[in-house]
Amino acid sequence: MSKQRPPRRSWAEPWKVKVVEPVRVTSRAQREAALVEAGFNTFLLRSEDVYIDLLTDSGTSAMSDWQWAGMMLGDEAYAGSRNFYHLEEAVREHYGYRHMVPTHQGRGAENLLSRMLIREGDFVPGNMYFTTTRLHQELAGGTFVDVVIPEAHDPAIEHPFKGNVDIGALERLVQDVGADRIPYVSLAATVNMAGGQPVSMANARAVRAFADRHKIRIMLDATRAVENAYFIQQREPGYANRSVAEILKEFCGYTDGCTMSGKKDSLVNIGGWLALNDADLYQEASNLVVVYEGLHTYGGMAGRDMEAMARGIRESVDDDHIRARVGQVEYLGHLLDDWRVPIVKPIGGHAVYLDARRFYPQIPQDEYPAQTLAAELYLDSGVRAMERGIVSAGRDKETGEHHYPKLELVRLTIPRRVYTQAHMDVTAESVAAVFDQRERARGLRMVHEPRYLRFFQARFER
Ligand SMILES: *Cc1c(COP(=O)(O)O)cnc(C)c1O
Repeated sequence: MSKQRPPRRSWAEPWKVKVVEPVRVTSRAQREAALVEAGFNTFLLRSEDVYIDLLTDSGTSAMSDWQWAGMMLGDEAYAGSRNFYHLEEAVREHYGYRHMVPTHQGRGAENLLSRMLIREGDFVPGNMYFTTTRLHQELAGGTFVDVVIPEAHDPAIEHPFKGNVDIGALERLVQDVGADRIPYVSLAATVNMAGGQPVSMANARAVRAFADRHKIRIMLDATRAVENAYFIQQREPGYANRSVAEILKEFCGYTDGCTMSGKKDSLVNIGGWLALNDADLYQEASNLVVVYEGLHTYGGMAGRDMEAMARGIRESVDDDHIRARVGQVEYLGHLLDDWRVPIVKPIGGHAVYLDARRFYPQIPQDEYPAQTLAAELYLDSGVRAMERGIVSAGRDKETGEHHYPKLELVRLTIPRRVYTQAHMDVTAESVAAVFDQRERARGLRMVHEPRYLRFFQARFER
């Protein structure tokens, strides 16, 4: 008797591989030496010592043949490059903003925006902080205020839109400090630090209504807004039959401008931009960019890079692309969840987040459980992940104490169009092996702490 065929219809990525890049498998002894050399910080490892690199999805995606062909059409004029106009057209068409200033990457845009809008003593509410975003707000004299819904701080709660803004918290802030001390709401689409969790369209609409009531702007962090649009299509009533491109445009339409890291959604290795609807603000931005990035028609990017990003934007909003992208993340997440490994739920758009608190309950937060877990994972298999916990949260700018975030996570971040299902299997099996050894793990001590964004360069010892 023949075996019953399983009742399933799989889908595959909407691309095939044309060029490959070899990766190296190392021995445990080699990894131990590399890890000590790197001060137990995965940011300080050499990439050639890494087998599967899930440090970040930032600038690590694979470009298409159409993007590479565009690189050859780079117009490297100092001023008025045709690639700039193509990029501007792609931003207008897919994000809907009237004006755009290119920057070398997302934080360049954050710097310009913060300098233009924030004054000493201002408060900037946001749906959870992001490292570079908050730092630029603080350097400009502002104080970040977290207004994400409380569910976002609990990794176990299943909520379809854990990135949503708590409108009540926004109203309380207005009562406490006054609307004129709030230059804008800093709205992030798919909240990175909460585990890649989306914001609903209904919530974006509610934030708009709040902003109109108090004459406050909304500035979007659009870095992963396409992934956010996909979750709206999948989860929010009324959007199942709308394309991701349409949803993206509606979502951005509730905001007054955005900062963008093209290194994520837009499928390029470098680049970013600042978009604004207000003509006067745009005038100011196109002047300020000359100081920090470059002329307003290149902003720190080569013409070829602007062309690759214009093309990447068009590819990124394709429904088949984004389903495969998020689908691969979900594949890895479901494997780990089935094996009872503690992860943040729901599974995010760009990464699976391991919950280091539940992984290592024996390690106190000031002995860096997530940092420890990232190190153990690398030791086991050469898979490189990133800490998103107390090290990333840094110190309070007033008291100098550690911020103690509720979330103590390790991020397995999936680059776009780079790894296969087999790479995901190897990763999941390694996480499971480290989980089986969890009782043996001991924490770390920080022996070098940089002043800014310490997680990038801090060093640790056992
Ligand atoms: C990466 C990122 C940024 C900063 O962009 P860079 O291109 O790395 O400078 C800002 N916000 C979010 C949510 C990001 O993920």
